[in-house]
Formats: sequence, C-alpha cells, structure tokens
Amino acid sequence: MSSETPTRAGHNHFIHDEIDADLAAGKNDGRVQTRFPPEPNGYLHVGHAKSICLNFSLAQRYGGKCNLRFDDTNPSKEETEYVDSIQADVRWLGFEWDALYYASDFFEKLYQFAEHLIKTGHAYVDDLTGDQVSEYRGSLDKPGKPSPFRDRSVDENLDLFRRMRQGEFENGKRTLRAKIDMSSPNPNLRDPVLYRIMHAHHHRTGDAWCIYPMYDFAHGQCDALESITHSICTLEFEIHRPLYEWLLDHLPVPARPRQIEFARLNITYTVLSKRKLLELVQGKYVSGWDDPRMPTLSGLRRRGYTPESLRAFCDQIGVARFNSTVDKVVLENSIRDDLNKRALRVMAVLNPVKVTIENYPEGEVEWIDAVNNPEDPAAGMRKVALSRTLWIDRDDFREDPPKKYFRLSPGKEVRLRYAFCITAKTVVKDSAGEVVEIICTYDPETRNGATPNGRKVKGIIHWVSAGHAVEAPVRLYDHLFSAEFPDEVAEGADWKSNLNPNSLELLTGAKLEQSVVEAPPGTHFQFERVGYFYSDPLDSKPGAPVFNRTATLRDSWAKIEKRGDI
Ligand code: ATP
Ligand code: MG
Repeated sequence: MSSETPTRAGHNHFIHDEIDADLAAGKNDGRVQTRFPPEPNGYLHVGHAKSICLNFSLAQRYGGKCNLRFDDTNPSKEETEYVDSIQADVRWLGFEWDALYYASDFFEKLYQFAEHLIKTGHAYVDDLTGDQVSEYRGSLDKPGKPSPFRDRSVDENLDLFRRMRQGEFENGKRTLRAKIDMSSPNPNLRDPVLYRIMHAHHHRTGDAWCIYPMYDFAHGQCDALESITHSICTLEFEIHRPLYEWLLDHLPVPARPRQIEFARLNITYTVLSKRKLLELVQGKYVSGWDDPRMPTLSGLRRRGYTPESLRAFCDQIGVARFNSTVDKVVLENSIRDDLNKRALRVMAVLNPVKVTIENYPEGEVEWIDAVNNPEDPAAGMRKVALSRTLWIDRDDFREDPPKKYFRLSPGKEVRLRYAFCITAKTVVKDSAGEVVEIICTYDPETRNGATPNGRKVKGIIHWVSAGHAVEAPVRLYDHLFSAEFPDEVAEGADWKSNLNPNSLELLTGAKLEQSVVEAPPGTHFQFERVGYFYSDPLDSKPGAPVFNRTATLRDSWAKIEKRGDI
C-alpha cells in the first residue's frame, strides 16, 4: 500500500468534506444523490466494488439515494448478459439501487439537447474523418486547428444532423462536434465529438438509432436528468470535468450535478480492466468471467470471498485523490478475517501418506469431539472417527528432519489434533524409495489432550481416519499473474506474458473428514492448518463437493510451529 494512509472506515474522507460543504451552502435543497454507472461491456471487478461501496455508502450516510445506471452508449460492445450479471453482482455485494436507468432511456432527450446546441450555435456537423479529427485536434503542446466545416450555418447543421439520424450517411462519414475552443490547453475542449454515426444493433433500442452520443455528452446530461447531485468518478476523468461543466452551462438541464474524482483501485498481481479481463476470457486463459482466479466479483464469489469481506476491504483501503496500488495481501486478509469468524473447521489431508498405529486395536473406532469453530460457540461440536489406520499430510513427516522440525519423524512424538500422541517407529517404502506407510505407536495416557508428567509435545498435526475418509478434488489457486505489476511490460511485450503458469494446481487424492460431504455446495470451511476452502457452487454436486482454495492461512509454518497450538 502507499505510504500515505488513506482514511479509515467511519472517518471522513475528502468527498464527505465536499458534500458537507455543498450542504452547508444550501445546494440541491439539501439532497444527496449518487449513481453507479457501469458500461455493460463486461463483468464487474473488485475495482468496481470500490466505486459501488463509495456511491451507495454516500447515499446511506446522507439519507440520500443511489441509482444504478447502465452507460450503454456503445452498442458494439454491450450485451444483456453483462446487464444481468452487473445487477446480480451489485445485489450480492449488499446494495439495492433506488432507480434503475439506462443512458439509452435518455437517447431522445439527449438528441434534443444536441439540437439545442446546434440552434444556439454551440455545435456543428463535421465532415472530417476520424483520423482527420484527431490530426486537427493537435496535441498537448500543439494547439488544434479549426475544421473547414466549423462555420456551417445553423440551418445546414440542423439539416445534416437530422439526416444523420435518418440514416442517410455511412459509419464515420460525419460527426456532431461541440464548438468550444480549438486552442484550449485542455484537448477535451477542442471541439469534442458529441455524436457519431454507428449503424449497429443496440441491446435495448434495437435499430431505432444509428447515431449514438459519446460518453462525455451522455454522462453529465444523464446525471442531470436523474437529478444526481454528486457524480463520483475516477481520476482519469478529471481532465473531462471542464467539458462536463461546459455542457451543463450550455444546455437547459433540470439540475446541476457536480463531478468529483477519486483514485481508482489497483491491486498487485492482477489487472483491473474489463478490456484485459475480456481478453483473458476470450483467449481461454481462464475458464470464464467467474474463474476463481479472476478479480471479478463473480470470480471472487466462486473463490469463496464473501460480500462482507469485500465491503470491509473497500472500507479499509479508503478513498483518496492519489493513485496507489494496494497489496494483494490486504484483499486476502479481508477474507481471512471474515472466514475466521464463520468457516467451519474440518480436517483435510491434501497430500496423504498412511499411518498405522501398531498398538491400536484393529477394527476399533472411537469418536472424538471436535470444535466446529472456536470463534463461534454457536457452531457447536462434531464427532470425528479415529481408528488404527489414518492419513496424515506428507509434509508432516520427515525421515530426516531439519532442526526445529516439530512434526512427525522417526522416534519423535507428535499430537494428533483433538486426540492422543503418536510416535513414529519405522517406515514402509515402495520400490521407488518413497515412504508409503509410517508405523507408529500411541500413548493412551495422552488422550484428550492429557500431558502426563508435564510432558511437552510441541507439534500437533491433523489427520483423517482412513476407513472414514472421503475424497474430493481440491483446486489450489495462486496469483493469476506472477508479476507484481502485470500491466507494466516493456514496449512491444505482451502483458499476458506475466500470467502465472502455475496459478491452478488440481489435487485429486485429498482425503477429507466425512462432514464435508454433508454440507451443501457453497459452504465455507477452514481445513485446519491448511487454509480456507469453499465448495464450488457450480461444480459441486450434493454429496460430491469440489473445493476451491479461497486463501491460505495467514500464519507461516514457522509461526505455527512456534505457537505449537495448531
Ligand atoms: P474498466 O477500465 O475496467 O473497463 P471502466 O471505468 O471502463 O473500467 P465502467 O463500467 O465505466 O468501467 O465503470 C463504472 C464505474 O466504476 C465508473 O464510475 C468507474 O470510474 C468505476 N471504476 C472502474 N474501475 C474502477 C477501479 N479500478 N477503481 C475504482 N472505481 C472504478
Ligand atoms: Mg468506463
């Protein structure tokens, strides 16, 4: 995270100050109204969650309203699938909009506004091609030059604009431009394009239109038509604000919204751009928008993130006016904190090796009491089967242990979680020399956590009774990108070269406690000592879960061994 500390939950941030000042000045009759304005050209990602939380929480804080508005002015990229997923994601995150609008609801009104600008001499139809328009616009250090069509009469402009609407001209043949200032230091004020010709089918208006308003022309006017008071957007729109205001100044709008910019969210080891995420989906680098490695809300949901954790994350990162990149760990800690409170604890052995307890009677089974969630007494207890043959994790045994290795090794004693202590005696190996079985003995006096003669056993390991274990596929996810800043690539290089080839590891031999198959798909678990896991809501079948690793446990092995309590 940036060295500057953003404001924390519940504290004022600069947007509160701005709104407080507006209210104190008596603006908008004391009303506060915001909107979340996604373009339906992809699925929402965690960056959008920041904007959603901000817009809706402002409305909550001031007893105001927040609308959902689809910014659907670019028919070539927009689809109903995206509209539906966006609504589902906003609701999943825990928010309900006051009114639902589409920019396309206002197409006729926007068209009338455009005619108004023409009639008042503030807009003209230009015949320059797109390339010519760019060339005439100049650059930051070079003023633009006027189009030869800039001084057409109002009548000619009106006639041409109406014919544009009628479909008389091909794509790109003409544009409607605002007549502002070709030598303005702000390129956005150099006669920006307001309407373009696009013979394209729109997901809502069908073929009713063949001219479409540009983002800059639609956005502020929709804000005004919806009576938005504060139009919150990301910093890259700061340079558009003079145009936003110019348009409001020159149009008979019913209200006077104001634009306030904040820093967009960036997170290490991921990209947050719908265009790039779409490229990953289309190129099949991931299984879809909801691949659990994706930073989309649907991906995070499938990974096992909860709305509470994402809202807490957005609170924690705060709202500021400087761009920074949040460490991925902050996002992961938000789900760890939340799942620590709610996830059921179970024992699961991901890389199993067999343990036989020599002196434990064959055929005997005892049922051990285990705590479902030490953070939540209401979660209760369960019984876990213990018998002569168990699975433990390969990582929990070393034939030749390093110093300070407190788990199982020949001649060393370790406690089985919730049960007694065992000591490794000998091992059985296969022809390749790999340990396939560890022969142990147990000490009945150490049952139920007892420590006879004050004996200290530092290591505690998890286990599953072989005769009672169930199997389930387990997907271990890692960062989708191996580079901390995947967008940053040398010129000519592809950002996709930063994809992590090992972002998904599928385990098929995991042995789990039986209780996991009784839980419905979409249940959160903590596999003790391993991490948080979620039974995939789509791939799991009742009785046959498929697990996604949501996050590893925060603690490193070193700390766990030191504490000796897991
Ligand atoms: P992307 O770059 O991912 O395509 P976008 O800005 O084009 O994002 P929109 O659908 O236009 O996507 O975004 C809807 C709202 O969400 C806008 O107000 C936008 O500023 C905001 N938003 C988008 N990305 C972020 C982000 N990373 N952090 C905060 N807000 C964001
Ligand atoms: Mg956008």
